[in-house]
Amino acid sequence: MNQKSIKALLGMKADQQDIVVKGWVRTKRESKTFSFLEINDGSCLSNLQVIFDQNIPEYANLTVKLTTGTSVKVEGRLVSSQGGGQSVELQATLIAIYGLADPETYPLQKKRHSFEFLRDIAHLRPRTNTISAVLRVRNALSMAIHHFFQERGFVYIHTPIITSSDCEGSGEMFQVTTLPMDKVPLNAGKVDYTRDFFGKRTGLTVSGQLEGEICALALGDIYTFGPTFRAEHSNTARHLAEFWMVEPEMAFCDIAQNMDVAEAFLKYIFAYVLEHCQEDMAFFNHWVDKTVIRTLEHISQEKFERITYTEAVKKLAAAKIEFEFPVAWGKDLQSEHEKYLTEQVYKKPVMITDYPKTSKAFYMKMNADDKTVRALDVLVPRLGEIIGGSERENDYEQLLNRIKSLNLNPADYHWYLDLRRYGSVPHAGFGLGFERLVQFVTGMQNIRDVIPFPRTHGSAAF
Ligand code: ATP
Ligand code: MN
Repeated sequence: MNQKSIKALLGMKADQQDIVVKGWVRTKRESKTFSFLEINDGSCLSNLQVIFDQNIPEYANLTVKLTTGTSVKVEGRLVSSQGGGQSVELQATLIAIYGLADPETYPLQKKRHSFEFLRDIAHLRPRTNTISAVLRVRNALSMAIHHFFQERGFVYIHTPIITSSDCEGSGEMFQVTTLPMDKVPLNAGKVDYTRDFFGKRTGLTVSGQLEGEICALALGDIYTFGPTFRAEHSNTARHLAEFWMVEPEMAFCDIAQNMDVAEAFLKYIFAYVLEHCQEDMAFFNHWVDKTVIRTLEHISQEKFERITYTEAVKKLAAAKIEFEFPVAWGKDLQSEHEKYLTEQVYKKPVMITDYPKTSKAFYMKMNADDKTVRALDVLVPRLGEIIGGSERENDYEQLLNRIKSLNLNPADYHWYLDLRRYGSVPHAGFGLGFERLVQFVTGMQNIRDVIPFPRTHGSAAF
């Protein structure tokens, strides 16, 4: 017997014998003498239409049992389809049931379910059109990312998940400990971390950047692509507590080259997904956001806008609309400001550089004005920030001063400072939130619906 995925079958010619397909019933339509099934196996968005009649063993029984969600094996002949919608269908000679799905209780019936409802049944939602399409697009995007960097000679690095350095210094780190919660050892009234598993306080990584820099300063161009954890307390549609991040880091690279890579990277990925996920992208474009394909096509050709933070503030100050958060030099750009710039002013992705040092992390390279740092944010319409990066401070004294002035302990950063003491070079990199990318590409509104098992404040089910 010739077992095939539905994706493969739909590309085959009719009149092929002894085909076997395995999957889950989506729908059934029946009459007295024959019935239709729609089967999906996840290999693609499309279902396979199966037609079976009274000549098949157990016909009457099957028509009762083959309800939505039932898993089946179907054997038969691939014939050209009479009805519209598909070119081939399977004329069954045998249908065997693996597992029933009681229609009284099976939650996924043939109708549109809300995304909120589906989040509560994350163990079943990959069987829906939307979530299975998201997962296939996620897969393609992951491959696109590796292709892009591998084609350019970047080395894929695995940075640690447990770490003792808080890269962003923002206090969003999840703690990792084996100390007994009900009897924490104390020393002079404080937790005695020397008795913890690693002999010091540790947590889950918020970024692989610092370790990425170590490797870039030996291997040249590297990237990481791994899980990242942030104890985000705010409930937004763009923040998860566990997300995946792509972080390239490049030696002998300045902020301008960093921008070139970021722009080429996004364009490459968008073109890749348009080419490799046509069926799923057409689905998103029809059901989720009627502009996604047009936007991706547009962006993969347009030159991204490049402005400084100071220019951005001028544009915002001149805006005719009222913002909820006031605009002033030195204040953070809020999501509403970022959207205004990309959607109203430039109508394309915008790369903003040279932010006030006060609003950015300690490791960013100081400009000659001593007020701004060589930070880079890439903003896209609808979403705002998709990439954050910078040229790194490569001057030992400058970096030490920054660490001290932020009341960080230089001893904690001894190895990071060493990179500036021995063979320091200009280097730069950025971080792309993988789920933000999936959101942007698919048009999905909520970040919880572009990762199979979302972790957010108050929720870590499944
Ligand atoms: P934001 O201002 O949106 O919180 P950030 O400034 O904290 O972002 P960075 O520290 O620069 O973000 O992280 C790099 C990238 O990681 C961001 O551009 C974004 O794409 C992504 N990212 C950051 N925090 C989250 C999160 N909680 N969930 C998903 N993606 C995130
Ligand atoms: Mn943040």
